Amino acid sequence: MDKNKYNAIVIGSGVGGLATAVRLAKSNLKVTVIEANPFFGGKVNSKQFGAYRFDMGPSIFTEPHLINELITYSESKKVTFQYHKLEESCRYFFSDGQRLTIKPGQETVATTISEKLGEDRNNVNKFLERQRKNYQSVYPIFISVSLHRFKHWFNKNVPKALLRFTKYGLTSSMHSVNSKSFSNPKTVQLLDRMATYNGSSPYKTPGILNIISHLELNVGPAMPKGGMVAISETLYKLCLELGVEFQFNEKVTSILHNNSNVSGVKTAKGTYAAEIVVSNMDVHFTYEKLLSNFSAPVMSLKQEKSSSAIVFYWGIKKQFPKLGIHNIFFTENYKEEFNHIFDKKEVYSDPTIYLHISSKIEKNDAPPNGENWFVMINAPINTNQNWDEEIQKLKKHILKKLSIELEEDIESLIEVEEINEPRKIEAIYSGKQGSIYGNSSNSPMAALYRHPNFSKKLKGLYFTGVTVHPGGGIPLALNSARIVERCVLEDIEKNEIRITNSDKTHTS
Ligand SMILES: Cc1cc2nc3c(=O)[nH]c(=O)nc-3n(C[C@H](O)[C@H](O)[C@H](O)COP(=O)(O)OP(=O)(O)OC[C@H]3O[C@@H](n4cnc5c(N)ncnc54)[C@H](O)[C@@H]3O)c2cc1C
Repeated sequence: MDKNKYNAIVIGSGVGGLATAVRLAKSNLKVTVIEANPFFGGKVNSKQFGAYRFDMGPSIFTEPHLINELITYSESKKVTFQYHKLEESCRYFFSDGQRLTIKPGQETVATTISEKLGEDRNNVNKFLERQRKNYQSVYPIFISVSLHRFKHWFNKNVPKALLRFTKYGLTSSMHSVNSKSFSNPKTVQLLDRMATYNGSSPYKTPGILNIISHLELNVGPAMPKGGMVAISETLYKLCLELGVEFQFNEKVTSILHNNSNVSGVKTAKGTYAAEIVVSNMDVHFTYEKLLSNFSAPVMSLKQEKSSSAIVFYWGIKKQFPKLGIHNIFFTENYKEEFNHIFDKKEVYSDPTIYLHISSKIEKNDAPPNGENWFVMINAPINTNQNWDEEIQKLKKHILKKLSIELEEDIESLIEVEEINEPRKIEAIYSGKQGSIYGNSSNSPMAALYRHPNFSKKLKGLYFTGVTVHPGGGIPLALNSARIVERCVLEDIEKNEIRITNSDKTHTS
């Protein structure tokens, strides 16, 4: 099959878009990425404020091997990707003053939790082992394949995965599984926190999401050398090596089609003919803004959205040995915090604070004796709250809480400040209502309602990134790219993609 004759347009250069472009170009398709912003990487981008560098979006990274796998797959001799394996997963500061540093490794975590939180060591070990096995079972039948193409998920791993069915916790919430498994509420809170890794509530998301603790606690997080932005830089370099073309500062305004096949996209600058269009834009907005006259999959789009975030980027002119790369200052009432985020749609008055400092390991990210603080709280999606007022109240609260904890007046140490919030997340990255991961996983059926990686109605239309299957987070976005590639190649093989264009692919 001569795949050279197929033109593919990727809408958006987030991690999912870049990884898809790499894969399709490697499969000999002619690929153009059209990106609304002047920069690549989507939420994985970096900014310099004064002497401080910040990763603007993600800071927690697991499964770095997925990037190296793409390099190998691309057969690149020049592009490299290096990362630090972090010695600590996170430093936890509980509301009663207890502090706990978690170092990754199943045995190490079991020892720490039993010694510091009084849990039975064997019980912790058993729980973590269960998450390891659950993760290994669901990966080949759920995470790395399309759920919507029978031959993808029906593979030799299914019987093994089905045998573990009762161990997944599909019918109970993550919180209920964790509180049945452990006696100390702090252990439960620590494990419940993993629901936030895909913007969900532990009180609603099913227990299967505990597999995230396998990656965070058994395996442990990594930090790319050069910061998180090195992930998108690496993918961008691979794209260039494989001949992918980029159009920046160009917003796609519609997807062109004849109700059964796509034929390209339209932007403010012209039209691009293509037999294959892959949207890395939030799937909700793809239907709302780019396919406004086409019937959208209602069930999938009406699911509850994931949380958003408020982030303060502070350049701090002091160093704090008490802090690590990842720090969590827990609220006393976790249930009320999630109730505010998902039900009341309000910023909670005492939210859990996540404080990330990349300069602890990437020394150039802050001046000597300084630190780059990324201070984030999980926030409700944008429903026209009075964000300016909320952010000022929140800032006051965070400064007070951290000043007490660190015994220092933090406000007087801030040299530079930038703020990100739901309205900006919506405006800059086109995330529906500022949601970070599209739909939340706040129901046992959420995984089934997540949009597939292809359109069932429009041939040649595909979807990549965290708002579609398999879900939220960089590793899953990388998996979505793998699934899109497989679906595209299958469809080409089956002659389902119609060649519509001539040599002229771009008209202004
Ligand atoms: C504050 C914050 C913290 C986060 N923390 C983590 C974390 O610690 N770990 C983690 O794994 N994930 C985290 N995430 C989520 C993370 O951003 C995703 O995992 C991942 O970066 C999303 O990648 P994506 O491919 O879905 O696309 P996105 O990064 O959303 O990129 C989509 C791209 O499409 C472009 N686009 C949209 N519409 C159009 C259009 N019409 N025309 C052209 N281009 C368009 C956008 O400009 C953007 O570049 C965080 C997100 C935020 C905001």
